[in-house]
Amino acid sequence: MLGDGFGFINMRRLYLNVQKLHKNEIFELGIYPCKIASMQKDDVLRLLRDPSLVQPEKLTLLSNIAAQAEALNMPCCVVGGFVRDLLLRKPVNDLDIVVEGDAIQVGRKLVKAYGGRLTPHFKFHTAIWYLPHSTEFADLITARKEIYEKPGILPMVTPSTIEDDLKRRDFTINAMAIRLDGEGFGEILDPLNGQADLERGLIRVLHPRSFLDDPTRIFRAVRYEVRYSFIMDSVTQGLIDAEVTKVLASLSGERLRHELDLIFDEDGAARMLLRIASLGLVNSIHPWLPDFNQDYADFLDMDIRLDVPADRRTMGYILWFMDLSEDEVFSIAKRLDFTNELALSVWAAAQLRRSLITLFDSKPSVWTYALEKLPLLSIYAVYLVTRVQALLDYISLWRHTRPHTTGDVLKARGLPPGPRYGEILTQLRSAWLDGVIDSTESEKKLLESLLQSEK
Ligand code: ATP
Repeated sequence: MLGDGFGFINMRRLYLNVQKLHKNEIFELGIYPCKIASMQKDDVLRLLRDPSLVQPEKLTLLSNIAAQAEALNMPCCVVGGFVRDLLLRKPVNDLDIVVEGDAIQVGRKLVKAYGGRLTPHFKFHTAIWYLPHSTEFADLITARKEIYEKPGILPMVTPSTIEDDLKRRDFTINAMAIRLDGEGFGEILDPLNGQADLERGLIRVLHPRSFLDDPTRIFRAVRYEVRYSFIMDSVTQGLIDAEVTKVLASLSGERLRHELDLIFDEDGAARMLLRIASLGLVNSIHPWLPDFNQDYADFLDMDIRLDVPADRRTMGYILWFMDLSEDEVFSIAKRLDFTNELALSVWAAAQLRRSLITLFDSKPSVWTYALEKLPLLSIYAVYLVTRVQALLDYISLWRHTRPHTTGDVLKARGLPPGPRYGEILTQLRSAWLDGVIDSTESEKKLLESLLQSEK
């Protein structure tokens, strides 16, 4: 968007300037066509009131929170992703509110004034306020300082100022706040120059030990790089060294999987995994972790017409580990602390892909009974990768095929209860699947002959 009142970049001048830059600098420029760095309070207010960026209910919510915090004499701000996305003129999502004072007290006051429900976390002085009759919620955080005593271990926290709270954050572009209380409503707090980095498309840590304190920030950096076509600044990227990689390798499976889950939630997931591999981080998660096959990238977007429960994360792991052996799958699943269900889905797909050759030329009934034991998503993933038609026939047709005859019919026909019920119904179903019968009439005939053979 050029010349929209928030600043104007002359594209020709930009092009000429880019020409003069060194190649690396061009890469670091992360061209983003909007003026952010010089934004004033009025500009921010205009963005806040733009319903395509901030839904009106969200804006009301912000003023309600501000009013209650002000009544308690506690300065408060909206921070993090909200500010970043607003300045980028992208629709904002989560509300992260930082309160200088006590977020739980503000939360209680909000519930009293507007209803809803509060989930306080006393240890961290934070609370989540769930609004009444809505799926909206706000994260309320008491402004705090963090001290990392050991690399990779969660920090000690003490209440502090909003400015200190911004200094504990991951990147400059996430370390900005917009004041909500009183006359200050709409003012930007940007002590670390996040606006300049946002404008240049740079992801920059706040201090040199940042990745040692918390190596999961590297995954966050990669998400922002790909999501916004940004790039880590060279100093930040240079901090990903052998020591950081060692700390990364010591992180719990749960923390690592959480980061990978968040990656699979994103449109550019495959490219993010490629970038993580290019940073040399894959092996430190697990020595057998393969590169994500970029040819599978489009398969993360499910075809909803097929009535297969969509789950991007499970699909992501299935595709990622599709070509691994059973031992490799289970070893990685253990490292990443997979649930049994997830491990089973990944294993089933890898197993099915390997055993496809034994099923070729089988009748539909044989396919169906073999596939029925496996998670549908695993089958769908193998179909996407191999395009074996029988897998699609199973998903869209065969799995729904059932005879008209039921157990009740067999009972009415005087068949004594026992395993024959299941056998007869399976025989009828196979006959439908394999095209031996194709009408109610022909099913009746077959049933008669099966019952005759009982006598
Ligand atoms: P996204 O759009 O990816 O959800 P977000 O900024 O809303 O981005 P959250 O994970 O919700 O991300 O985190 C909210 C804020 O908390 C971030 O903007 C950042 O300031 C801070 N934060 C989150 N994770 C970390 C971390 N590992 N280290 C430091 N600060 C963090």
